[in-house]
Order: sequence, then structure tokens, then C-alpha cells
Amino acid sequence: DPRLKAISDAIRVVPHFPKTGIMFQDITTLLLDPVAFKHVVDIFVDRYKHMNISLVAGVEARGFIFGPPIALAIGAKFVPLRKPGKLPGRVLSEEYELEYGSDRLEMSVEAVKSDERALIIDDLVATGGTLSASINLLERAGAEVVECACVVGLPKFKGQCKLKGKPLYVLVEPR
Ligand code: 5GP
Repeated sequence: DPRLKAISDAIRVVPHFPKTGIMFQDITTLLLDPVAFKHVVDIFVDRYKHMNISLVAGVEARGFIFGPPIALAIGAKFVPLRKPGKLPGRVLSEEYELEYGSDRLEMSVEAVKSDERALIIDDLVATGGTLSASINLLERAGAEVVECACVVGLPKFKGQCKLKGKPLYVLVEPR
């Protein structure tokens, strides 16, 4: 698919950001290229439009960029998975490990019905820790996680593989 090269080319690689040794994949340059940005949305929408998905969950913050256009196009609700303390009302909370320390994601309990079919969206998968916590949140609320989808993934994730037994679909590798 020639669109994948256009997507990969539109992502800027920033060495030593935000810390020495990290090759940061900057998806904000992809957003400046409406053709490449649309390719991302189109590929995901074509894949998910006939899968009976009722809920798209986006991981803060960059899952909030790619998730909503996909949710609107496939006729699904959008549910933000947020950093701690941001959501009012009753929340479910999942802690996950980072390279140094841990972090937490929260989801509104009332956002999810028990028979929901969910797609989880983030910009990038590295260790899979963030997506694993996201899967746990949706499953604890009774949803079925149909698939996780990211724009960028390490070679071991590229294309299709499994994460916590759930399918993971990734468009391009980091450059
Ligand atoms: P994981 O939990 O899979 O190890 O890390 C994935 C999370 O870290 C995602 O939420 C992603 O947004 C963020 N992340 C880690 N490295 C990068 C990077 O190089 N570029 C971008 N855009 N996000 C990153």
C-alpha cells in the first residue's frame, strides 16, 4: 500500500527528545500533511467500518487526535482514556509500568455498556504497557476489545500481532 510510505515519510524523527537516547517519533508533522493524515484515517475506517464496533477508545493524548475522526466515520461513540484526576464521576483506574516508575489511566464507568464492542486507538506502541492497561479498563467495564490500532509500532508489532490475546494492528515502523 503506497499510502504507508507517505504516512511514514510525514512522521518526523527527533533524536534525544524528550531525553538523551530517545528517537522520538513526532506525529505532529503528520497532522500538517492533510493527505497523509487522511490516509491514516481512511485505512483505519476501511478496516473497522464493517466490524460492528460501537466504541472507539483513545489514549491520552495522541489517541485523542486519531480516535475521534475514526469513531465518527464508523458511527461509534468515542471514549477518552485519561491521565489520573481528569475525569469527573466514577472512574475505573489501571496502573501500568513505565521505564522509570509507573503511570495510570482512567475511564468513566458510565461511558461503557457491558455488550460494547471496542476498538482502542493510540499513536504509537513501544512496550505495549499503555495498551495493556487500556485493554484491562475496557474489559473490566464488560466491553469486548475487538482490536487495538496504532499508527507506529516497533518491528515486532508491525502489521498484525497479539497483545494480551487481543489483535494489534500497526501501520508503520519507527524510522
Ligand atoms: P508503551 O506503553 O507501548 O511502552 O508506550 C506507548 C506510549 O508512549 C504511547 O501512549 C505513546 O504515545 C507514547 N510514546 C512513546 N514513545 C513515543 C514516541 O517516540 N513518539 C510518540 N508520539 N509517542 C511515544
